[in-house]
Amino acid sequence: MFNIVIFGAPGSGKGTQSENLISYYGLYHISTGEVLRDHIARGTDLGKTAAGYISEGKLIPDDLMVSILADILDNTPEAKKGVIFDGFPRTINQAEALKAMLAGRGAKVDAVVGLEVDEDELVDRLIKRGKESGRSDDNLETIKKRLQVYHSQTQPLRDYYIKEGSYVAIKGVGSIESIFDSIKSAIKEKCGK
Ligand code: ATP
Ligand code: MG
Repeated sequence: MFNIVIFGAPGSGKGTQSENLISYYGLYHISTGEVLRDHIARGTDLGKTAAGYISEGKLIPDDLMVSILADILDNTPEAKKGVIFDGFPRTINQAEALKAMLAGRGAKVDAVVGLEVDEDELVDRLIKRGKESGRSDDNLETIKKRLQVYHSQTQPLRDYYIKEGSYVAIKGVGSIESIFDSIKSAIKEKCGK
């Protein structure tokens, strides 16, 4: 398996760059945000639980999120080659759980691509997206909350993955193509692919 985590604040471009990564490396994409939004749209029990957390800008509890991930990994044959994890892990607990899940498959996180974008640019992008996305969490109040949650719960993962030796820092501003070029060269340097 070849596994990449795409990491960064809300609005850093994880979804956009994931699409480039999937087509280039032929990996399976798991976007936890999209998985949850799909459950909400279908009105499942999970969707009903997730909706409240998301519209308040909070994270879904770790144990629930980890069981969703385990279920996808267990039941998706296309994920056997490797996965782009987009939006997961978002906490240290989730990262530990992911490590254990992959170790059970004889695999690991090969690279963590960290898209680094400053805060003013993030807020601008999310407000712009909110005008088109119709997402319940793309409004100024919830955006601020999501950024706070990012700083307190998710950003510590940057140091965690630096210690693991898998983190690569990518400047997440510029054209989509030039950012993707930096990602490709960083992965090539780290993993030889
Ligand atoms: P980007 O704009 O970079 O794609 P994002 O933060 O806007 O990222 P999503 O990744 O789509 O958006 O996540 C939307 C929401 O779904 C989060 O704010 C959170 O409530 C919930 N969520 C997604 N992934 C997780 C996770 N791993 N753990 C807990 N909650 C999650
Ligand atoms: Mg996204």
